Amino acid sequence: TTTAVAPLVVEDVTVRFAGLTALDGVSFTVEPGSVHAVIGPNGAGKSTTFNVLSGVYRATEGSVRFGDDELTGLPPHRIAALGVARTFQNLALPPRATVADSLLLGRHRLTRTGFVAAGLRLPSAAREERRHRERVAEIAEFVGLADDLDRPAGELPYGKQKLVELARALCMEPRILLLDEPVAGMTADERRQTAAVVAGVRDSLGISIVLVEHDMGVVMRLADAVTVLDFGRRIAGGTPAQVQGDPAVVQAYLGT
Ligand code: ADP
Ligand code: MG
Repeated sequence: TTTAVAPLVVEDVTVRFAGLTALDGVSFTVEPGSVHAVIGPNGAGKSTTFNVLSGVYRATEGSVRFGDDELTGLPPHRIAALGVARTFQNLALPPRATVADSLLLGRHRLTRTGFVAAGLRLPSAAREERRHRERVAEIAEFVGLADDLDRPAGELPYGKQKLVELARALCMEPRILLLDEPVAGMTADERRQTAAVVAGVRDSLGISIVLVEHDMGVVMRLADAVTVLDFGRRIAGGTPAQVQGDPAVVQAYLGT
């Protein structure tokens, strides 16, 4: 199945905090069904970019559009409802919940009958829960967690917990997925597995991905396009090969 996806257009976005410009007129476009990496040294503005895209921060100037939808200034839940899902750099899973229940939480936004119907044990709620559990099992299979559904998420190895986060974001049936350092802290095997899952999300599900990642190997292998930030400015952009050879990028990373 291929989802019809829209471009995410970031135009001239500036974010100012008291006395500090975290993003300074940044523009880039995430093409439908592509992996777009945002890279740069510490403090470059990567997390701020994510926070603007997901509505946690409000742009001081500029706009963010996703297809026909204006995201500028919308609160996080409205942006999520438009199909923009994100993961966090640090794990945010309820530790004792099973993987299945953690993923069901990810489907909360899609729940029609809601908790009242579930509490009253109405047949419609039972049917809906069964449908959600089936979808959760499919997504678990897709990311390689099929055998872990009944285990407490907090007892899984770190790399698998990060995959649960990714799976939970997929459970929202997003049109675009924002991944903040998805392979940070992972073993080499886990990195490979996660990179393959991310490629599958793009190639099989047709979901666009914005990727903030420090592991340049993963960025170079996965990304279709790269935006490079330094001190809040976009200093380069293009294919992985193009930005890798760009003198401004080399200089930014050398810290000169
Ligand atoms: P990166 O993720 O690339 O390391 P950030 O986006 O976290 O960089 O930060 C960019 C700049 O904005 C940094 O100088 C940081 O200290 C500043 N910054 C980020 N968030 C806030 C905030 N809520 N208040 C004040 N300054 C912030
Ligand atoms: Mg950051």
